[in-house]
Parts: sequence; C-alpha cells; structure tokens
Amino acid sequence: MAGKSYDHYGKVGKPSEKNFQKKKRPKLIAVIDEDNCTGCQVCVPFCPSECIKPVPREKYGLPIPPLQVNFHQCIGCQQCMKACSNLTWDAIRMFDVEDFEARFGITITNDTHAPEAALEPAE
Ligand code: SF4
Ligand code: SF4
Repeated sequence: MAGKSYDHYGKVGKPSEKNFQKKKRPKLIAVIDEDNCTGCQVCVPFCPSECIKPVPREKYGLPIPPLQVNFHQCIGCQQCMKACSNLTWDAIRMFDVEDFEARFGITITNDTHAPEAALEPAE
C-alpha cells in the first residue's frame, strides 16, 4: 500500500501566477541576507510582485550571486520567506516597515517606481 506523500508546499502555497502591483505602503518588507543566500532562486516564482532579483555579479564576483529584493515593489506578503525557510534555507527576514526604514535608511512610500537602493545599514 502506498503511503501518503509529503506535501512540500503545504506551508508555502503554490508559486504565484499573479503580477501584483503595490498599491500602498506595506506593513512589512522582505530583506534577504546576502551573506546567507545561496542564490538558488527558489523564492523567485513565489513573489507576486516579481521584485526579487540577483544582485549584480560584480558585487561579489561569484558565479551564482545572492538575491535581493527591490524594496519599493515589495508588498510584504511573506511568500518568499516561507518558500526559503520551508523549501531551501533561511535567508529572508521580514521587517516592520518602520524598523526597516530606521535600520537601512530607505524610505518606503506608496510609489513602486522609486530607484532601487543599495542595502547599507544606516549609521
Ligand atoms: S530561496 Fe533563500 S537561499 Fe534561495 S535564493 Fe531565495 S533567499 Fe536565497
Ligand atoms: S514579501 Fe517577498 S514575495 Fe512578497 S512581495 Fe515582498 S519580496 Fe515578494
């Protein structure tokens, strides 16, 4: 008798099929720890706003660079964090938007078209 197969997607949901545009300032922002990210890209198809991209190859000189979030497009849905922590690794943290702004010196607005900002912690 065949056993019940394990549902790997049970805690994660299915990869997103939507292209969801941010409509307002979110409560949460996803941050990928670049030092901890393997660059596997498993999280990418789970992001409904398509805002997870590899960092420029020149930044680390690695053949498989880590990924980072375009913070101005993130809607705070947490799907990437669930995908990373349940399916691969544990490289994504969700920050309250106020904490994120204070820590990284980046202001999040309703706008999706703000320039992508380098992730450098504020002094
Ligand atoms: S799933 Fe996790 S380890 Fe893989 S690319 Fe995304 S953040 Fe990095
Ligand atoms: S929380 Fe993650 S999956 Fe959701 S929009 Fe932000 S980066 Fe994309």
